Amino acid sequence: MKKAVIIYSGGMDSFTLLHHAIKDSGGTEHVAALSFDYGQKHKKELHYAIKTCVNLGVTHRIIRLHDLQDILKSALTTSSPVPEGHYTDENMKLTVVPNRNMIMLSMAAGYAITAKASRIYYGAQAGDYPIYPDCRKEFVDALNVALDKGNYDAPRIVTPFIHFFKQDILRHGINNLALTPHDYIDTWTCYNGRKKACGVCGSCTERLEAFEAMHLIDPLEYE
Ligand SMILES: [Zn+2]
Repeated sequence: MKKAVIIYSGGMDSFTLLHHAIKDSGGTEHVAALSFDYGQKHKKELHYAIKTCVNLGVTHRIIRLHDLQDILKSALTTSSPVPEGHYTDENMKLTVVPNRNMIMLSMAAGYAITAKASRIYYGAQAGDYPIYPDCRKEFVDALNVALDKGNYDAPRIVTPFIHFFKQDILRHGINNLALTPHDYIDTWTCYNGRKKACGVCGSCTERLEAFEAMHLIDPLEYE
């Protein structure tokens, strides 16, 4: 029996969310992490997800949905280059994977019901609103209504970071969850999966700015 299921990408935000969920739930044994292979162009973040869950002793499942790559086209699932800049830039729409988060949340809900977990932690955040409609509160509220209608004991999707920007999430990790900047070496944010993080894609840009805003050094190596 678990108390919570978390959708875990292996990035810095979901890393912080995992620690948040563990604290909320009273220990690693009460949390199960779920990662998805949806045909993203690199698997690097999944390796980081595995590493963190092994280190923490958190139950971890990777759901293989890579056949979705054939039908869900995005800069994250095809060979087209990922855009550079900020999440708010119009060209970031290229990184939207059609309905991906609803698919992942739906599977997490099934897992949560099976594991008798009452909460699903979803790392939607304020910085994602402009480009990713499925990171907005209206979407999460609507999905919670649908889960209630479609299940006997529906779990609730919770989004503790929905009003946080990336730097607020980092600040929360450092100030409230006893994480150190160096702990973030076990996270991968870059949309590209090369040896070092690219430093210029939307994800890297936001990550670097978050560390800079907190006057912290990002432990990752950049190209
Ligand atoms: Zn990058």
